[in-house]
Amino acid sequence: MTANVTPLHRGPLATDVIRSTAEQHGVCVQPFTMETTDPSTGAINYIGVPCGSTVESICLPCARKARSLRMTQCREGWHLTKEPVTAASEPTGEHRTLVERRADLVAEYQISSGSDADDLREEIRSVDAELHQLGVRGRLPNPEGAGKRAPTRSTKRRQDAPNLPRRRVEKRTVGREYAGGFRPSMFVTLTCDTYGPVRSDGSPVNPDRYDYRRAARDAVHFASLIDRWWQNLRRVVGWDVQYFATVEPQRRAAPHLHAAFRGTVSHEVLRQVTAATYLQVWWPAHDHLVYVDSHLPVWSPDTTGFVDPETRKPLTTWADALDQVDAPAHVATFGPQVHSKGILGGTEEAGRHIGYLTKYLTKSTGEVVQADTHTQRDHHDRLHAELAVTPCSPRCAVWLLYGVQPLGATSRTTPGHCKGRAHRRTTLGLPGRRVLVSRKWSGKTLTEHRADRSAFVADTLAAAGIVKQARDTLALVWRKLAPGDRNAPPRDHLIMRAIAERVTWRAEYERALLAAQGPPGAPEVSATRYLAA
Ligand SMILES: [Zn+2]
Ligand SMILES: [Zn+2]
Repeated sequence: MTANVTPLHRGPLATDVIRSTAEQHGVCVQPFTMETTDPSTGAINYIGVPCGSTVESICLPCARKARSLRMTQCREGWHLTKEPVTAASEPTGEHRTLVERRADLVAEYQISSGSDADDLREEIRSVDAELHQLGVRGRLPNPEGAGKRAPTRSTKRRQDAPNLPRRRVEKRTVGREYAGGFRPSMFVTLTCDTYGPVRSDGSPVNPDRYDYRRAARDAVHFASLIDRWWQNLRRVVGWDVQYFATVEPQRRAAPHLHAAFRGTVSHEVLRQVTAATYLQVWWPAHDHLVYVDSHLPVWSPDTTGFVDPETRKPLTTWADALDQVDAPAHVATFGPQVHSKGILGGTEEAGRHIGYLTKYLTKSTGEVVQADTHTQRDHHDRLHAELAVTPCSPRCAVWLLYGVQPLGATSRTTPGHCKGRAHRRTTLGLPGRRVLVSRKWSGKTLTEHRADRSAFVADTLAAAGIVKQARDTLALVWRKLAPGDRNAPPRDHLIMRAIAERVTWRAEYERALLAAQGPPGAPEVSATRYLAA
């Protein structure tokens, strides 16, 4: 044996080897350890539960699996020819769990200070989106509770693009069929407006004349503007258009939207809807900073609010500031460019576009908005500086810089410091939820798509006479591992066990596929389709 052969049993290297082996076999590289107790025997066992990360640099196998699930979801909904059967009206366990989770989040949100509140609200929104996906109808109680005011001057504050033709929206979600049985669906890209000419790397030709303020505000309100676009589109075409969309940054770091939607709409109509869609932000004006660095409002226990550091006069409350609003603080619109394309289901082109839509989902937002050149870095710095003074919500601590007390401000609120994603250098205002799926897209939740995959694998195995004894996990009592539990096996052991199980499973699965190919004329089973599972 030569001296430069590294022994594998040394800690760190062995861990690296296990990680790369786990990656090769599609096994989670950083599972959580759960302790299970069998109540009938009292036997304690330790089980590695996949981390479920969607980010490749954190866990490659889990991220790939998550992406492949999204691809399945996108594919199944895009060219549906029958109306999807939406979730049962009876509340299921899944509904209840989500509603309970939402209640907890709302309770936490209502006592949270400006900074944590933004993350919580983001979380509440994604729970709401899941609930809608599960077929929950109607409006969920607003997390702002009594603090939320009914909009006033509603006639003045119309948002419904009056220039567009309007139809009653039918209950239909499936597009029409053309002569010859063709049912194309659409792929569309929407971009933000222009803020000034840019170079090929996305950085402005003249940074001093680039409109960073509008760029920052448009980014913060992009998700709401998109919602408005779908509403307008549905009214114009008269049917309940369904979509699977992803939000990604362009080179200039402004968000844009790629969407697959079901059915066909002419390019001209898409262009008109885009041109007519706008979002008015009825917030207090925030054009001029009132307080900066050394001169910041201070918390006053007497008034239980923020006051001016010199005069000790209380700052305007959120409610009063809203009452004084008589013009929108910002109006967001799309850029004039709209790309759209009709695509037939099951074609190579459809597959390519699904790949395109989900391409960046395994990267974190921070990884997607990387700067490579120094001009890009300067551009990101400037945009970030503008986002730092752009309020992201009524609870944002940035409002204090404009002399307004945000909703829910407490003694722990720090003027100008909001933890909301919008202000982070790594995300540059991109929304946290990057996949937007409408409620009646595939008629299935992600959990149901996942279950389909397991069922497909189980059926394939069963067809070859391999019946897996399902571990009766429901009867077990699951518990998070207590900190410092010395009986738990090291994580590497759990990963090794999972790799061994995977190797056995794959051998069985391949045997099953060979068996399935058996008699000529039998339906073909794709060998690779679910191997990412
Ligand atoms: Zn993982
Ligand atoms: Zn904020």
